[in-house]
Amino acid sequence: MQVVRARIAAVARAAGRDPGAITLLAVSKTFAADAVRAAHGAGQREFGENYVQEGVEKTAALRALPLIWHFIGPIQSNKTRLIAEHFDWVHSVAREKIAQRLSQARPEQLAPLEICLQVNVSGEASKSGVAPEEVRALAETVRALPRLRLRGLMAVPEPSDNVDLQRGRFRSLRLLQEELNGAGFGLDTLSMGMSQDLEAAVMEGATIVRVGTAIFGERVKT
Ligand SMILES: *Cc1c(COP(=O)(O)O)cnc(C)c1O
Repeated sequence: MQVVRARIAAVARAAGRDPGAITLLAVSKTFAADAVRAAHGAGQREFGENYVQEGVEKTAALRALPLIWHFIGPIQSNKTRLIAEHFDWVHSVAREKIAQRLSQARPEQLAPLEICLQVNVSGEASKSGVAPEEVRALAETVRALPRLRLRGLMAVPEPSDNVDLQRGRFRSLRLLQEELNGAGFGLDTLSMGMSQDLEAAVMEGATIVRVGTAIFGERVKT
C-alpha cells in the first residue's frame, strides 16, 4: 500500500500535479474481507470490486467500517439492483438501459449513485465500453436520470508495455472529458490506470487509479 502511494506521489510531482488530487482505489476482487480490513487499518478508505455477489458479501461483512465501495466490473441487467443498493460508485456504465435500471433501483435514503462512463479507447483491441463517438449521447441520458450523478469517464486500455501507447490511450480519454466539459458537463473524474500503467495514467491526468495486484498481490482466480 505504501509502495503504491509512493509511486503515485512520485509521478504526480514529476508531472507537476498535487498527489492529493489522485485517489487510490484498492481493487480487492478475489481477496477476502480480512484483506480489506487490514488495508483499512493501514489507512485505505476506497475499495473496488468486479463481481457483484462477491462485492455484496464483502460490503455486508464490513458494514461497520466507514468504507467507500466502487463497482468496476461488467454489469448484467439482472444485477443492477444489487449494485444500486450496495455500492457508492459505478465506473463501468456503458449502456443506457443499465443506467436507467441503476437509477430506478437506487434506494431513496441513499445519496445518488456516483457514475463514470466506461469508454472503449482501444478500438478493435477491446470489446468493453461505449465507443468514443457515442459517449456524448450516453452522458446526456445519465445526466437526466434523477438517482445518478455523472462524475466522469473510465477506461481499461489493452495491456501494453509501451508507455507511449499507454499514454496515448489515457490522453484520448482526457480529451473526451475536456470535450464534454466544453459542452457543460462539469466532469471531475478520470478513472484510469492499474498496477502496470498507473504512472502513464497519472501523467495524463487520472484522478482515480484502480490498483489491485500491486497492493494485494497476485490473484489466484481472475
Ligand atoms: C482487476 C482490475 C483492476 C486492477 O488491476 P491490477 O492489474 O490488479 O492492478 C483495475 N480495474 C479493473 C476494471 C479491473 O478489473
